[in-house]
Amino acid sequence: MAVRRPLMALLAAVLLFGPAPAAVAAPAVPDPDGASVSAPRGQSDTDLPFTVGSPQQQARSAEALGRQPALPVPSAKLPGKPRNDVIQDVPVELTDASIPLNLIPYHDIPAALRALQRSDRISVEVIGQSVLGRDLHLVVATAPMSDAAWKSWQKLSDLRFSDPDAARATQAAGGYDTWRTPLFVNNNIHGNEWEGTDASLQVLRELAFSTDPEVVGMLDRHVIAFVVTSNPDGRVAATRANANGFDMNRDFITASQPEVRAVRAQLVRYSPLTMLDIHGYVSCTLIEPTTGPHGDNYEYDLYIRHALRNALAMEQAVLATGETRASCADGDGGRRADIPFRDRAQGWDDWPPIFTPMYSMYHGSIGHTIEVPLNPRGNLTEAERHERTRINTAVARASIEGNLRYATENRSALLANQLEWFRRGAAGEPTRPIDDPLALSLARGDNARTQPQGFPRAYVIPAGTGQRSETAAARLVQFMLDNDIVVHRAARPFTLDGTRHEAGAYVVDLRQAKRGLVNALLDVGRDVTNDFDAMYDISAWSHGHLWGATVQRVTANVPLDGKVLRPVTEARAAGSVAPGNRTQYGLVVDSVAGIQAVNRLLGDGVTLGRTPDGTFVVSARAAVVRPIAEAYGVDFTKITPPRARTAVPVSRVRLGVAANAGEIHALRQMGFAPISVTHTAFNSGTLSFADFDALFVSTTTFNPLGLDATRSAEFSRWLADGGTVVGRGSSGKLFNDRAGLLDVTIAAGRSDANGIVAVHNDPASPITGDALPTAFVDAPQYFTRVGDGVRVDQRLAAEGFFLAGHWGGQEAAAGHAVVVSGVAQGATVTLFGTEPLFRAHPEGLYPQVANALWQ
Ligand SMILES: [Zn+2]
Repeated sequence: MAVRRPLMALLAAVLLFGPAPAAVAAPAVPDPDGASVSAPRGQSDTDLPFTVGSPQQQARSAEALGRQPALPVPSAKLPGKPRNDVIQDVPVELTDASIPLNLIPYHDIPAALRALQRSDRISVEVIGQSVLGRDLHLVVATAPMSDAAWKSWQKLSDLRFSDPDAARATQAAGGYDTWRTPLFVNNNIHGNEWEGTDASLQVLRELAFSTDPEVVGMLDRHVIAFVVTSNPDGRVAATRANANGFDMNRDFITASQPEVRAVRAQLVRYSPLTMLDIHGYVSCTLIEPTTGPHGDNYEYDLYIRHALRNALAMEQAVLATGETRASCADGDGGRRADIPFRDRAQGWDDWPPIFTPMYSMYHGSIGHTIEVPLNPRGNLTEAERHERTRINTAVARASIEGNLRYATENRSALLANQLEWFRRGAAGEPTRPIDDPLALSLARGDNARTQPQGFPRAYVIPAGTGQRSETAAARLVQFMLDNDIVVHRAARPFTLDGTRHEAGAYVVDLRQAKRGLVNALLDVGRDVTNDFDAMYDISAWSHGHLWGATVQRVTANVPLDGKVLRPVTEARAAGSVAPGNRTQYGLVVDSVAGIQAVNRLLGDGVTLGRTPDGTFVVSARAAVVRPIAEAYGVDFTKITPPRARTAVPVSRVRLGVAANAGEIHALRQMGFAPISVTHTAFNSGTLSFADFDALFVSTTTFNPLGLDATRSAEFSRWLADGGTVVGRGSSGKLFNDRAGLLDVTIAAGRSDANGIVAVHNDPASPITGDALPTAFVDAPQYFTRVGDGVRVDQRLAAEGFFLAGHWGGQEAAAGHAVVVSGVAQGATVTLFGTEPLFRAHPEGLYPQVANALWQ
């Protein structure tokens, strides 16, 4: 049975906060600061078996900051109570962007944390490092606990999702009465939105030292976790992005960045009841819940009843600061914040769980983005700048305190709500429409509309040796484990809903507490073009359809055979080497790990060739390939001498790029070593075409028409000598036209369109012959005419090609080519109208780019 708030509480809430305000004009620009992407740095880090951000590299970047290498990163689920790590000092950086804002610079944070550690209510942990090696700190505030007490706390914490029914029974029997509920505050994920950090340190000083009975009471009832700054590199440099150029508040479903993985581990560890992610700068102070469309996999009816009331409580707390610049006139003589669910018709949605609070909702959290009101950047007097950051800090602090009060007053209701959320998952029940009268009465426009979701019974991921991309399957399963998803593996062959599966297949039972996250990762999603006109960010993602593993959906309500299935704690492809005393092996590359293995072998000086069907021929002995097979989980197979003789040599690609940060990161993940190129750098002699074998172009920073006469002639010779050019998107096509390469005509979909498309691949194409039947597009480009000699490698399906996302006017693109290639002026040229490297998400599409570069 659903947990419902008592009617009196509902009435009280309505009376307290009043009826729905008259419609007010929504501020026009949802994200005024926009995405500013900083230059990528020389380090990357991945979840993959071959980790580019090795301990050595981390040590090097730490060294660059003049300090000791970082402490070991704790695993997702730590035993015992929160730790008190030794917090080391870091060098003073007088250029820290926080200083002119009168906010705390990163180098003053360690001392502030050590001061907090003097309280026995505080634990401080180093939970990871930024790209540049700066420590990420988690501060946990709660009344002192013995080790034994912490152990039983952890037990009850885990019971919530391991057995929601038992947890509910325990709560009914009073077993959770003294259990401290976890709450979570994340700060400064956008490095140039600073004040959450300062506000949290102020709140923490209260929590650490105050004798106020209200504060002491909170510490007895909660475990309150704060990420002090989740983007220290951005905080210091005044960049939104981290040092890899990533907007980390778009990365939570992909977790390509080390800072995101560190925070994700803590969200998994605590599965907090409430979660705040503090940003800036939106006038009136913005407090979520959001407009529609709402993600299909949330238990939105459970979320909204507390999200809305908590938002109203935080709004009251912000108004109570008396800072008039922090709120807006409500048209009724009063003041208000900006609560998108109540105050906007569309354009500030929670559809993609790329955002931190939306991701946390899959761990049962009532997640909110908070946007403090006043932008302190730009050309302001010092006094005004300081005034703005003072107000913003006060607003952030009021929001945190409003949230803590709400969570204290509604502690058992919040827990019951979360347990009901998890119970529905474990029971396999469909989601339910919003039934909360307050939410229904306050929703603006269609914001109370949700689409009921009936979940599949299970997903099966075949992974026996010889399956398509066993490494991709292991990669996906390990990713799910890192996300706190329960996965099993078949110990022997089994039949499910009439289909026989081999031993080794992974099975994900959707009857689990966090099933919403399973479906958010593995399902394709839905076309929401007609639901709302405007979306805040992307509208589609899918690990199940874009990461390269085969994922089969089981919809029939069949029992899963518990005797066959074993729980998985770690997933790793073993790799293999064909037996016998060989000098040559075959290697099929259909995953990121496979690309990494090839680049590693080339880097090690091993001789490689490629057969016409794309199989690599590795000329090496078993002793050379065995460690590669083990490290990357790839299979070195038997290959006959006649077949091996059809191979043409492949060498390490010296790669120049004019690309965005996400693409550069993806290329590094694959083991390429991209060097950014511009026409200016060629003209000045800083770069020479002779240093490159291939160019990847998706921005206009390299314009061939900008080359001077000498370099232009050099570029023509480079092309004629068999250079490789890969262009992506409209800028890639522009480069193609300016350089006079392939004869094609391109058309563009809406610039805000994005989604997952069904494609047909030319089986004879060396680029897409073995590609997935799906691709990702963003600001889609498609080719309406291809000239003689241009091959269509991939085209959109003629009917029903748009599987998920938002693309107004999609019909015009049906059946058109989206990947084309050919030889022009002696160069091998490939143009992508898709986004195979988008934000380092669609890993299953990476092999297409690698294939194009290896031509
Ligand atoms: Zn932000």
